[in-house]
Order: sequence, then structure tokens, then C-alpha cells
Amino acid sequence: MFWNEKIETMPPAELAALQLDRLKQTLLQVQNVEFYRIKLKEAGIRPGDIRTLDDVQKLPFTVKQDLRNGYPFGFFAVPLQKVVRIHTTSGTTGKPTVVGYTCNDLETWADLIARNLTMVGLTDRDIFQNMVNYGMFTGGLGFHYGAEKVGMTVIPSATGNTRRQIEMIQDFGVTAIHCTPSYAMHLAEVAEEMNAPLESLKTGLFGAEPWSNSMRKELESKLGVTAYDSYGLSELFGPGVAFECTERDGLHIWHDCYLVEIINPVTGEVLGDGERGELVVTPLKKEAMPLLRYRTGDITMKFEDGCLCRRGQKIARITGRSDDMLVIRGINVFPSQIEHVLLRIPEVGNQFMVYVDRINHLDEMTIEVEINRNYFSGELADLARIQKKVVKELRDTLELRTTVKLVEPGSLPRFEGKAKRVVDRRGEM
Ligand SMILES: [Zn+2]
Repeated sequence: MFWNEKIETMPPAELAALQLDRLKQTLLQVQNVEFYRIKLKEAGIRPGDIRTLDDVQKLPFTVKQDLRNGYPFGFFAVPLQKVVRIHTTSGTTGKPTVVGYTCNDLETWADLIARNLTMVGLTDRDIFQNMVNYGMFTGGLGFHYGAEKVGMTVIPSATGNTRRQIEMIQDFGVTAIHCTPSYAMHLAEVAEEMNAPLESLKTGLFGAEPWSNSMRKELESKLGVTAYDSYGLSELFGPGVAFECTERDGLHIWHDCYLVEIINPVTGEVLGDGERGELVVTPLKKEAMPLLRYRTGDITMKFEDGCLCRRGQKIARITGRSDDMLVIRGINVFPSQIEHVLLRIPEVGNQFMVYVDRINHLDEMTIEVEINRNYFSGELADLARIQKKVVKELRDTLELRTTVKLVEPGSLPRFEGKAKRVVDRRGEM
């Protein structure tokens, strides 16, 4: 199902021409931002220098700190009277990042959300409860206007009062919900406590934090929904940058609005399809706050193959942040890769710790993981077998030899907030 069939099924050559056109337009638009005027001058780039899409690689990157330095309105490319809304991103430290929108930006953004909702089969017959923060966070108003555009019946319930949320789902016959995966899990638990079956629900849209496929299975069975992954960030409007289709194998990017690259987060080198690295996005249709090569910090890859459902390349689900990346003997390793390997092995649990040391000038990585008693005979020989299996599976995925220590169930630390599973001791004596 298509919301904007012409764009969503555009032949590749026509799409590339549209992208190039909009990239050139963006390069003109950023001339209104002092930061870019200076950056482009330093790099010796004039708007006419962009002749092909690959020329985007000549442009400078933009990082989050640049946006912070421009606080509050330093990145606006239009006069303030053209800016009709402001959102900010939650700054964990210091000032937040300010994002501005023109009327056209809000129109473009709502259209992108409408495409996502339509792609997963939602229509004007659906009743949609939007259980996210409606304040400065873009997930609230972003989904709200997109869902209204589709003609869905929107319930702006926002967050909090879970019992009331459950009553509304039941009383209004809600068919689709949007929230964070962790809130969805809480909702399922409270519904169970209340003995309140959520029979009308069929679709769950979850985003704003990374979540695994095992979490997907759990949410689907507990809530009785088909769960879809939503990806976006406020700097690029908000949600709606990429979204899963009904295949649920990777996320579609709307290429007419976002030019996507994957880079090695250490060297900045552009990587090919199927290679994992940091997602870099140049928005192609932003008026108030155009950006060049924005480094998202999120780790993914572009799929080599297309999708059955429509044209355009997909990206993999986000597996982590580039700030989490470890370089072990020259090889890039993400804690999330280790997690994925361990999840596949039933003999071990999903709690683990990673220790990195430098021994005789060589990086050594040690992984501690809890044994799963249900799959362990208690024999020493079995312990050796499991250990060997974990080492092999890790080597196959990471292309790296590791030391694996099996530990008692329940002996590793549990994390309530952001997990700190990596202890890098290479800097220590
Ligand atoms: Zn698809």
C-alpha cells in the first residue's frame, strides 16, 4: 500500500535525478547559515561543484556538537518569522539542540509519517493511540499529524496513567499504538495485572530506543500486535526517517527526502552496501534547518538487496551507537554484535560483560557470560563444549579470537538504565 505512489515507486534513474536536484537546492539553502558558508569556503566548494550524487562526499560533515555551538537559532536558514514551530532534543549534558520547521517542513514531515503508516497497512479505519510525550519530543506531534493526515482517529493520550491508557484502548477499540518498546512492555504487564485483554489491538509502532528481535517476539505475543520498528531523529524532522515495512526485515528510507551514506566512524571513509558503520544523512527537502552530511552516531548498514514491497534501499535495524565502538587489534567491534551472537546460543544467558586489556602490546578481549542451567548437564566436559561453541560463534561473527569465561547464572551485574557492559582497561597500568 502506498501513500505517495509516484514517489514510492519512482524508477531509480528518475529518483537519482530528483535527489541530485534537491541536493543542489540544499547546497544553495545552506548558504544562509554562517557555519556552512565558512565550512564550504574552507573546503573550497562552490554550489556548482556538485555535479553527481557521489559529489556529496566532497562536502563537510556536520556533528551534533556543531548544532549545540549554534544554540539557539544558528542553523536556521530562513528568517524567524518563517519558522512556525520549534522542537528541541533532550540534551543529556549542556544546552539542548534546537530544531526549527517552516510550514512546508511540517507538511513534508506529516507526509513521511503518512507513508510509513500506510506502508504497514494502516488506514482511515484505524483508531490510533499515541502514547508518547507530546512536549518538545518530536515523537508526539510528529506521529499525531501524520496519522491525522491518513485520516486515522487519533487519541493523543501521551504518557503516564497506564491504567487509564488501557481503559481507553478497550473503550475506544484502539487498533494501533505508538510508544517506546519499554513502555509497551510495561503496558502489557499492567494489562495482565488488570486482567484486561487488549483484543482490539493489531499494530504496534515502536521507536525512540533500540530494541531487539527477542523483545519484538515478546511484545507481539503479550499485546497481540504485529510490531514495527520506527527510526528517526529530531535533527532530521523527527520520526519518519526510516520505517519497517510488512516484510519486517530492514527499514525503508525515503530517498527523495534523505540522502544516506554509511561511513567508518573512525576514519570517515565511505563504506559499501552490506558494510556496517555510522549512518550519515543529508536531508534533501528541509527548509528551516538544512544540514549537510549529518553524523547520526547510529550504527547500521545499507542492504545490498532491495525489497519485495517497493523500490529503494533499506537499512538494517540500528545496532548501537558509534560511541560504543571498540577497536580491537584494528577490528571494529560493537557490544551489540556480541549480544546478537550470545542470544543465538541457548546454552548461555543474555547477561554478559566485556573486558579489554593490552597484554604484551596486544589487545585481548575477554567475555564473561552466564551459563543457562537448562542447557547444561553439570559435567565439566559439557562446560568445555559450551565454551568452545561460544568462542567459535564469536570468531565467526567478529572475525576475532576472544577469551570466553562461563560464570554462574545471576552473578553478573544487572543494569536498570543504560547498560555498561564494556570495561576497557587498555589505558590503565
Ligand atoms: Zn519493504
